[in-house]
Amino acid sequence: MAAPRVAVAGGGLAGLAAALDLTGAGCEVHLFERSRLLGGRATSFEIDGHTVDNGQHVYLACCTEFTDFVERAGMADALYLQDRFDVTVYSHGVRSELRAANLPAPWHLVASMAAYRHLGLRGKLQLTRALLALSREKAPPGNFAAWLRRHGQSDETIRAFWDPFMVPALNAPLEAMSAAEAAFVIRTAFLRDRDAARFGYSKVPLAQIMEAAARDLASVRRATVVSGIASLDGGVRVRSADAQDDVFDAIVLALPPRALQRVLLEPARFGVADLEKFEASAIMDVHLWHDRGRLDFDFCALLDSPVQWIFQKGDGYLCCSLSAASAHVSTPTEEIVGAMWREVSAALPELRGAQLVRGAATRNPEGTYNARPGAVRPTARTLDPRVTIAGSWTATGWPDTMESAVRSGREAARVLLERNAWKTKR
Ligand SMILES: Cc1cc2nc3c(=O)[nH]c(=O)nc-3n(C[C@H](O)[C@H](O)[C@H](O)COP(=O)(O)OP(=O)(O)OC[C@H]3O[C@@H](n4cnc5c(N)ncnc54)[C@H](O)[C@@H]3O)c2cc1C
Repeated sequence: MAAPRVAVAGGGLAGLAAALDLTGAGCEVHLFERSRLLGGRATSFEIDGHTVDNGQHVYLACCTEFTDFVERAGMADALYLQDRFDVTVYSHGVRSELRAANLPAPWHLVASMAAYRHLGLRGKLQLTRALLALSREKAPPGNFAAWLRRHGQSDETIRAFWDPFMVPALNAPLEAMSAAEAAFVIRTAFLRDRDAARFGYSKVPLAQIMEAAARDLASVRRATVVSGIASLDGGVRVRSADAQDDVFDAIVLALPPRALQRVLLEPARFGVADLEKFEASAIMDVHLWHDRGRLDFDFCALLDSPVQWIFQKGDGYLCCSLSAASAHVSTPTEEIVGAMWREVSAALPELRGAQLVRGAATRNPEGTYNARPGAVRPTARTLDPRVTIAGSWTATGWPDTMESAVRSGREAARVLLERNAWKTKR
């Protein structure tokens, strides 16, 4: 039998992960991507001659499917990963470190709190109690803010630990965050394994990793929108701007929820529900170039600021990440750059008296997708055995992250291969 011809719609991490696995299994894979760039939300582009990522992306050591994907794309050297969990936190000019101790989890984190200057003894005890409670409660109901209050967390503890770590991790304010998802993140990153929460990031523009992942595909059709599909007896007809009506043996739809809704037209016929119940949450990055040169950190968290994390991307270049940023995402560039420069230069003593050279902003009104309460995240399977779906927002068990995207893509490929989709009849 000739190699099955499989289409993948969506060239983000989910689509690329599916494409990589299907190619590895001997399929002829054709990728359709709406943009000229690969990587979707995790891509890079040029601003005034500087290549910047579409928002700073970090991963944790527990994101093993993501790191495996990068490795299989031949780009393992592109990734940086800390030797141990080690985070610098600034609050109003005061610097402190959280550094994993040589103890088994969760005591590696509890012990690191001893030297943490932004939280008093009472707060540290509160935090320890909450961590121990989270190790017991698998899927607490309700929102995480309510859970924290029920477990005696004061404003100080929320400000000094829960806000800076959880708001960016789930890209939502604590009140809008599912307690079950928050518990999953804490357990996975902090409670199981001392090394799991080590931070990592790409040392090269993300788009380079994505291009490498697509290298061996049969074709990559950029700037090509898939507008619809039709299930046939022996295949799937894919409608797109360039390949008008091409027929494939199977397809992976690795699209955001709204785009998937448009392509499926009637999702219920495919057994897919609730697509309208996913809400986008904004992420914004403000890029600041200043005249002070290299500062003494690779990345740091800020307390009491709309900027949660700052990454030093080069000498004199800071990338400031604002999660759950719906209040800022429409602010004009000049205004947001000025405001964030004031925030950052006031918070970092090393920047006192420094001058801003230039600034830029990248905006993602649809940074992540969260299911509204009651909505069910769909699995990869649809009622048509030749059609699978993928995306960081689908039912992977992980929040909308790069890890979730890769897991979803691999699962969609696995389902097609396991079903031997190309031999099935409707
Ligand atoms: C600014 C920002 C910062 C982030 N930071 C982090 C982080 O630090 N760590 C982390 O783990 N995650 C982070 N994320 C989330 C992470 O980027 C996503 O979870 C992940 O990249 C999603 O991958 P995906 O393939 O599921 O979806 P997407 O990346 O959204 O890919 C979907 C693709 O489908 C394409 N498409 C849409 N419609 C069509 C169509 N009709 N036909 C063809 N193609 C179509 C789109 O152009 C896109 O390329 C961040 C996201 C943003 C925006």
